[in-house]
Amino acid sequence: MSRLATATIHLGALRHNLARVCEQAVGARVMAVIKADAYGHGLERVARALSDADAFGVAAIADGLRLRAAGHRQRIVVLSGPDSPADLAEMRRLNLDAVIHHDSQLAWLAADADPRPLRVWLKVDSGMHRLGFPAARVAQVHAQLAAMSNVDDEIVLMTHFAASDEFENPLTHAQIEQFEQAVAGLPGPRALSNSAGVLGWPGARGDWVRVGGLLYGLSVVEGKTGADFGYRPAMTLRTRLIAVNELKKGERVGYAATWAAPEDMRIGVAAIGYGDGYPRSAGSGTPVRIRGVDSAIVGRVSMDLITLDLRDVPDAEVGDEVTLWSANLPAERIAAAAGSISYELTCGMTRRVLFVEDDA
Ligand SMILES: *Cc1c(COP(=O)(O)O)cnc(C)c1O
Repeated sequence: MSRLATATIHLGALRHNLARVCEQAVGARVMAVIKADAYGHGLERVARALSDADAFGVAAIADGLRLRAAGHRQRIVVLSGPDSPADLAEMRRLNLDAVIHHDSQLAWLAADADPRPLRVWLKVDSGMHRLGFPAARVAQVHAQLAAMSNVDDEIVLMTHFAASDEFENPLTHAQIEQFEQAVAGLPGPRALSNSAGVLGWPGARGDWVRVGGLLYGLSVVEGKTGADFGYRPAMTLRTRLIAVNELKKGERVGYAATWAAPEDMRIGVAAIGYGDGYPRSAGSGTPVRIRGVDSAIVGRVSMDLITLDLRDVPDAEVGDEVTLWSANLPAERIAAAAGSISYELTCGMTRRVLFVEDDA
């Protein structure tokens, strides 16, 4: 069976977006965050397109291994650090930077006689309460790390924002202040901002920015798309119409028969569904594009198929391309309809989707 759902990754958009981050965060070094298979865009291809980044950020040591195998020489930061002494050895072997956020990791480091140097990012919990040492302990932890002969002398001081996508949210002000207090007087570069921090919190850029979403042209700022900030979506998701059917007024469509035709009309059936990663929560009214026209899903998304209202696309026929998201139909619109964020959509592509690249 042919695979119809196709994700096209625009390498030119990735390069444009990295340049745009450098422009917006001028003076800061850029860590390109490519965890979760580069937010679903493909680890190796994205790393190749973004090879000018000062560092890569990953969630798994296995990703670091793949990047080293592909020949990348820059810093690679494992954002949750080692989760066992064996991880620590592997990180030294692969020359990966470790985020250190917990006492268990400090204990493994203290017990580790391996002389190979490790670069460390000391993570401060400034108020998100997920990973990191409490502000009051940071100076002591820093001293412990600085005393270890197999830890690199330059320790990066980092924190992570919980709500930087809300440009008015006082939590971010409080987090910046908490962080500044925790690291006051300590040497080393500062790393605070994620994508939304770069957009909305120019005072928090520090020496490093850690950027994921913007590199893919995605935004998590409510009501805003990546394009609104000068970024280009790096993924276009398409499929084709495999059936066009005539319905009579009142006839119902799809599982649980949730949607009834309000008049005699044509319905299109397109070959994509939650089995490809298209969100099942995208209900009737979620936009798609056919022949350059906005159309909409009707009825439930099923595993392999979606059903579409063709009333505004009278010429639509079997074989027509259907666009699920693209530069003309931002993933943020689909995410809003599905009660999600654009990151989750691109991360969710399954192995059934065919990935292709273009240079644009
Ligand atoms: C994922 C992640 C980022 C990147 O966040 P974006 O919103 O995609 O820019 C930055 N820092 C850390 C610690 C992360 O886990």
